[in-house]
Amino acid sequence: MTAANEAKAILNRLGLGEAVWGGTLTTRSPVDGSTAGAVRETDDVDAVVTRSAAAFDQWKRVPAPRRGELVRLLGEELRASKDDLARLVTLEAGKIVSEGLGEVQEMIDVCDFAVGLSRQLYGLTLPSERPGHHMRETWQPLGPVLVISAFNFPVAVWAWNACLALVCGDPVIWKPSEKTPLTALATHAILDRAIARFGDAPEGLSQLVIGGRETGERLAADPRIPLVSATGSTRMGKAVAQTVAARLGRSLLELGGNNAMIVTPSADLDMAVRAIAFSAVGTCGQRCTSLRRLLVHESIADALIARLKKAYETLPVGDPRESATLVGPLIDTAARSGFDAALAQAVEQGGEIAVGGDPVDRDGVYVRPAIVRMPAQTAVVEHETFAPILYVLTWSDFDEAVAMQNAVPQGLSSCVFTDSVREAEQFLSAWGSDCGIANVNIGPSGAEIGGAFGGEKDTGGGRESGSDAWKAYMRRQTQTVNFSRDLPLAQGVKFDV
Ligand code: NAD
Repeated sequence: MTAANEAKAILNRLGLGEAVWGGTLTTRSPVDGSTAGAVRETDDVDAVVTRSAAAFDQWKRVPAPRRGELVRLLGEELRASKDDLARLVTLEAGKIVSEGLGEVQEMIDVCDFAVGLSRQLYGLTLPSERPGHHMRETWQPLGPVLVISAFNFPVAVWAWNACLALVCGDPVIWKPSEKTPLTALATHAILDRAIARFGDAPEGLSQLVIGGRETGERLAADPRIPLVSATGSTRMGKAVAQTVAARLGRSLLELGGNNAMIVTPSADLDMAVRAIAFSAVGTCGQRCTSLRRLLVHESIADALIARLKKAYETLPVGDPRESATLVGPLIDTAARSGFDAALAQAVEQGGEIAVGGDPVDRDGVYVRPAIVRMPAQTAVVEHETFAPILYVLTWSDFDEAVAMQNAVPQGLSSCVFTDSVREAEQFLSAWGSDCGIANVNIGPSGAEIGGAFGGEKDTGGGRESGSDAWKAYMRRQTQTVNFSRDLPLAQGVKFDV
């Protein structure tokens, strides 16, 4: 069966019949190039925002633990449909089977986290300087949240945002990537089941808007949406940030990465090789946290590259539906052209291809992941090419390695492999890695949901998922109550009338 037909069968099973088809947004599976047809775009975007604003008026009055109950039910429905949704991620985004399952597991984990959070949206009480007064800080629901998501995590990014937004009292509008509308439709059908079981959720609490970049632009400009959470390229983030800032809205940006690993002479190379392979070629190099720069001490570079070459030469590249495959396809032919162009530029800029880089299918989207030795961090190395290319650079002094790690525009994820406490702690210090994520003896990709996820500089500065990332979805209010019979003014000001 073609990948597209299998996707269609899953959608049917989830109750999404012919109504979703007949539009102009053509879907194409990267697995085999098959198409299931064109999906219907959302025509009245304005009405979506109107419904969302009305839903907010009701949802903000629902107690947070009750809002958590909806997310708990969503977690149950996701568990029940895990295999179908994961399969759809494989068929539409080209992820291998275990990564598709892992993505849905991440959604389930975020549901569990958000359910607990629904009873822990803590504020503060603060001592007032005035007698008989009480001061406190409370977190209130914010309003409709727009989630713009990228193709490479077609469902998990929505869950990171939606689960938190819903328990925080905010309705959600989701504009998924135009490359992955089917997984979005399926996710929403699963959410609808949870909403039906929940019983009294307001209409329009969570809405899906199918459309392209212009639809995202239009929604981002709407002043009725106080928070825009946008995941995607730095180019997109810069455009969204300006649009939202112009109306003094709030944006939460999760943009491109250019993640590095520093390998020191004391590193456990067995562990490093495994970590490099997973983070550089997993999801065919199409994770925001993919390893793109390997910064190796000059004394071990040849030995490490030799081991990596061996591992790369036997990498199973192919149909992501096959259980033995570790590297599936790039998302589309534009990504393939980007891969080819970056390799050509790397060679022009003095790079030497150590392994890979050749196509598995001449005009298609399957490629052999590449390792390129570079003489320096040239322009191509500073740019995030969303494909499996690993640039290797060498260093002789640890300070120099940390400086190289920080010397790119992006600041998402970073790591060091070392057995030296001094090097590890320096890497994690204020003069160490400048990224949002810094790991020791772990690759840069595959973060847990419990921590706040995001990065600095061109990565956009947003934080999502765990820790106190929920605060971005709420409005902070400082409240003062006078329970005395006097009216003293702050700072001792006298104003008797
Ligand atoms: P993309 O920027 O092309 O598209 C992402 C989304 O933004 C899509 O839904 C698209 O329709 C929308 N969009 C594009 N331009 C827009 C605009 N001007 N206004 C409003 N919406 C707009 O990204 P992509 O190719 O789908 O994804 C790959 C990129 O996403 C990579 O750079 C990757 O690093 C990044 N990413 C980052 C994270 C993170 O958490 N930091 C996670 C996943 C992906």
